[in-house]
Amino acid sequence: MPKGMLVIISAPSGTGKSTLCRRLLQRRKDLRCSVSCTTRSPRPGERHGKHYFFLTREDFKRKIQRGEFLEWAVVHDEYYGTPRHFIDQQIKEGHDTLLAIDVQGAAAIRRKIPDAVLIFLVPPSMESLKERLAARRDSSESVAKRLANSRGELTAAKNYDYLVVNDDLERAVDQVEAILTAERLRTSRQELRELAPHAA
Ligand code: ADP
Ligand code: 5GP
Repeated sequence: MPKGMLVIISAPSGTGKSTLCRRLLQRRKDLRCSVSCTTRSPRPGERHGKHYFFLTREDFKRKIQRGEFLEWAVVHDEYYGTPRHFIDQQIKEGHDTLLAIDVQGAAAIRRKIPDAVLIFLVPPSMESLKERLAARRDSSESVAKRLANSRGELTAAKNYDYLVVNDDLERAVDQVEAILTAERLRTSRQELRELAPHAA
């Protein structure tokens, strides 16, 4: 069985990464999604275990010490991390898995798993980024922090395999689906040995 492919999506906060991932998961029922741990407080409507595992700083640090994260990083002054066990299992079982993580996390994954697919999502403009952050009703402090960090995050885009503009949501989802389809068709991800034993 071919092993699962890791698909990393990063974007400045407020670009629409969570919205795009939700839509993509509705369309691609075969895709799995990693649920991260974080020390930030839940936003209205966010549920423990569905959107994030919301942990205290003590619990998070304990998990770091036990090596339970594939990667972790401090983003906007809070801890975020990808649970290692879930990802190992999905890869082994052949499930393609989506991770919506920041640029530090993406760089760490690239070092550990070089064939992960890295997609960077950008807003159509800084003005629309501000509007989207405001629409989410984040506090003004949180909006300011996220906007200030967005410039540094945008410079990391060059390290990604693909750049997608989230202007029209459905078009952006179409483009990400096209990337997934092409990446799955890579010779290196297919079991050539079974199809043509002499060519492998
Ligand atoms: P992120 O996960 O990148 O921080 P969200 O998915 O929470 O961002 O989206 C931030 C806000 O932008 C939400 O209110 C969402 O509905 C809105 N949004 C997302 N994508 C689009 C889009 N293509 N056009 C307009 N608004 C969008
Ligand atoms: P938010 O608080 O807006 O949900 O996320 C803030 C930032 O943390 C986003 O860039 C998001 O992608 C990132 N993030 C979420 N989970 C993880 C994770 O497990 N690891 C890393 N490195 N970043 C994460």
